[in-house]
Parts: sequence; C-alpha cells; structure tokens
Amino acid sequence: MKTIGLLGGMSWESTVSYYQAINQGVKAKLGGLHSAKIALFSVDFDEIEKLQHTGDWQATAVILSQAAQAIEAGGADFLLICTNTMHKVADVIQAEITIPILHIADATAKQLQADGITKVGLLGTRFTMEQDFYKSRLIDKFGIDVLVPNKDDQTIVHNVIYNELCLGSVQSGSREKYLNIVDKLQQQGAQAVILGCTEIALLIQQSHTQVPLYDTTEIHAAAAVERALSS
Ligand code: GLU
Repeated sequence: MKTIGLLGGMSWESTVSYYQAINQGVKAKLGGLHSAKIALFSVDFDEIEKLQHTGDWQATAVILSQAAQAIEAGGADFLLICTNTMHKVADVIQAEITIPILHIADATAKQLQADGITKVGLLGTRFTMEQDFYKSRLIDKFGIDVLVPNKDDQTIVHNVIYNELCLGSVQSGSREKYLNIVDKLQQQGAQAVILGCTEIALLIQQSHTQVPLYDTTEIHAAAAVERALSS
C-alpha cells in the first residue's frame, strides 16, 4: 500500500472528512483491521485565510510548499491538497516536491466524464468560482462547460463557507439558500453541480436534491484510495 500525503487544515473540518473517507475506503477494499497509510500535515487556517483575503497567494504558497516538503519527508508517495481553493498554487507547490500531486479538479472531471456530464455548475469559495485556475482546467483539459452562480449568490456561498462551515456550524437556513442556488444552476442548463469546496458536503448532500451532486472531498478521497492500492 502506498502512503497518502494529506495537506490539510483548510479547514480542519473537511480534513476530518478526508481522514474518515480514506480510511473507510481502504477498509471497504481490504477489510478487517486494514487502514490507510497517511502522512498528514495540518496548517493553521487562520494564517492562510488572512493571506487569501489580502490576495497574498505567494505567501500561502510558501507555507504550503514547506508543509508539502515535510509530508514528502514523512514518507508520502503522492500528495492531496485537501482544499479546492488552494489548488490555485498547486503548480508552485509541485515545483518544490518530487512526489506527484493528485489534483482535485482532475479527479472530479474524470468522474464527470465517466458519467457523461458535459455542462456543470460549480459552487466553491469566491476565489474558485470567480478566478480561472479551477474552471479553466475543467474546460481546457476535459472539455466540460462550467456555470457559476451570479455575484449575489456567489457572496452567499462564499460567506457560508468561511463564516459557518469552516467553523463547524451547519445551519438549515444556509442549506435552503444553497439548494435554491443549485436549482438555479440546473435551470441554466447544468446537468450536475460540483461541490467545489471541501466543506460543502457538511451542509448539502445528495438526499437533499434531485440535482446530481459531485462532492470533491469524496471523489478526491476515493481517487487517493485507488492510487494507494494500485500496484
Ligand atoms: N476547503 C475549501 C475549499 O475547498 C475552502 C477553504 C480554503 O479556502 O481553502 O476550497
């Protein structure tokens, strides 16, 4: 079994989901007392969040690259960055380590392609919805059209992530708002919606809507299990 590197803490609420999903995945495949080999480095999200919101992505890349190097030194065979947003600096991190990064958008796009989805809605932080680093990967590398919510709805989605979900607060009023936004994306032609922030599945799950949801945390974790157990 390969050792999975996890760059977590962004937020730790979703790192818990990764840890659980990966261990459950290994247990489902190997049974008994089997569990995943994991090298985890969990950062202080307060520091990262402040740099994100002042636009100092270079400083976030320095912190995350050092963490990634520690994960590699800790024996990881490959690395997961346990947040969609911080894939903005994935290339910078990749240049500082020799183990490969398993990119969250690639894992998600492969699942969408396998299911024949060609037009998808995207929920995430404002950085993920607004900027190009994530959307363009889906469009250019996989030919998947991406729809994002309007500006007001982006603000709702973004604020719920930082002011509630990353703090471990799950509120039914916010769930209603999210489901309303999911419906609007479907009305605009999305065949499915990507939960493109690793905390969103804490708030909305497939049982809440008929619109197919693609949870990036679950997909990323499953891809890690598959790679860890492949020869
Ligand atoms: N976990 C979130 C994501 O997947 C947001 C927190 C962050 O900014 O890293 O984008």
